[in-house]
Amino acid sequence: MGSQFQEPSTSPNVAIIGAGLTGLLAAHGLKKNGFSNITIYDRDSSPTCRPRDWTIVLHWAMPAFLDLLLPGRHQNKGQTLNGQGRGSEEFLAQALCNPNIEFSEYTESLVCYNGQTGDHLFSSLMKDSRRVSRQKLRNVLLQGLEAEGISVQWGKQLVEICQEHGTNHADESLSLRFSDGSVTTGIDYVLGADGPSSKVRELLFQGKGEDAKLASSGFVMSSCLATYPDTEVIEKLVEKHPVASLTMSLHSVMGYGVMYAPNPDDKSTWTAFWHKIWKSNLAALPVSRTGQEALDYLKSSTTGLPEPFQSAIDKTPAGSPCCIDELKYWNPRPFQHPSGRVTLAGDAAHPMLPYRGQGYQHAVTDVRNFVDAMTKICCGGEDSKHTMAEYDAELVKRGSEAVMQALKEAELSMNPETVGRMLMVRKGHGKSA
Ligand SMILES: Cc1cc2nc3c(=O)[nH]c(=O)nc-3n(C[C@H](O)[C@H](O)[C@H](O)COP(=O)(O)OP(=O)(O)OC[C@H]3O[C@@H](n4cnc5c(N)ncnc54)[C@H](O)[C@@H]3O)c2cc1C
Repeated sequence: MGSQFQEPSTSPNVAIIGAGLTGLLAAHGLKKNGFSNITIYDRDSSPTCRPRDWTIVLHWAMPAFLDLLLPGRHQNKGQTLNGQGRGSEEFLAQALCNPNIEFSEYTESLVCYNGQTGDHLFSSLMKDSRRVSRQKLRNVLLQGLEAEGISVQWGKQLVEICQEHGTNHADESLSLRFSDGSVTTGIDYVLGADGPSSKVRELLFQGKGEDAKLASSGFVMSSCLATYPDTEVIEKLVEKHPVASLTMSLHSVMGYGVMYAPNPDDKSTWTAFWHKIWKSNLAALPVSRTGQEALDYLKSSTTGLPEPFQSAIDKTPAGSPCCIDELKYWNPRPFQHPSGRVTLAGDAAHPMLPYRGQGYQHAVTDVRNFVDAMTKICCGGEDSKHTMAEYDAELVKRGSEAVMQALKEAELSMNPETVGRMLMVRKGHGKSA
């Protein structure tokens, strides 16, 4: 649908819970489509209080993503990326991990090597894709909202949603209670974009809290960032691919690439990322899941990789940021808030394993659908309960397929006999749910 700048006849009060990439994009999309009463609440005290960063590839959801962004410096300046204007390149350029490359079929592909021999296994083309820093993209989205007078209410951890009863159905509104004891009343719609351990999801399944709980996948993932004094390490990594590459071995999948590249002429200023996924759980880990102990453990237990990948691990300087997380998921199941005006989007709706980089692509799809549903209700006069129920049902069906595909993908990736059956090998990174 994507109607723009059409004022809803009455602009409802929309509360977005969570200022991650999903919540912020939802605020862009709503504001762009004429909704003026939008408030974003986040439990964190500031956008920088969790410094952890990782890379995200924007690929099949790129057209929807660009279409949802508020107009600004990123639009209508000539040359096109997905037909969106040169400015969209400029917008994304502020968030790119490695901006020092010419985009081409090669640089827009993810290349996978055999983790024992170093042989090329396959390349997956993600046309017009861009790998961005999650933190940088979040900052650019925040700046775009601030320019429109929309700011985030930080330090607001949602704990409860209550329905206020008026004299008739149309008068019923919602109130939000936060952990600092404050209460906000007069809310018409709530979008839960509060991430994998979503409180909104828990509240939607009130009384059946177990139904909303994350499940352990049986896999863990480490994430490390490294700036190498020996610049040869990153030079050789970039020769394998200037954006990112994978290796697949008997018992692990690893990803490597460029996280930041501030000075194109000085690779000692560049930071690489590397991830390792393997079968385990946190209880089985003999060490702390963060810091030097985790890094030392990863170095000692990651051996036999072909070069330059082994050196990228071995030469990671002491003190580099490093953590190990259990990979969890939630298989979406039907829900309905009694008011029909509380719903979910992004990782709150379908937390999945990061295989084939699908999580944020589906979050963008959710936001597109949510903005369209709100427009139908508020500009098209369609029934609120029915339209939101349609949104919820589609979200659950698509989300469940994507979550279970990502889990299966992880299982297939750990066995050389089944790697060939992976979606990534057969169909690349395209939309599959
Ligand atoms: C290593 C890694 C690589 C990835 N690569 C890709 C990729 O290549 N492509 C892709 O599409 N996806 C990828 N993903 C997935 C992607 O990062 C996520 O889907 C996306 O960032 C989810 O954003 P979100 O806003 O839904 O959730 P989050 O980023 O978790 O944001 C949720 C926000 O809600 C706030 N919050 C939580 N609880 C409350 C509460 N009770 N009250 C108020 N606020 C609250 C939090 O503080 C947070 O700011 C990757 C993920 C990882 C970990």
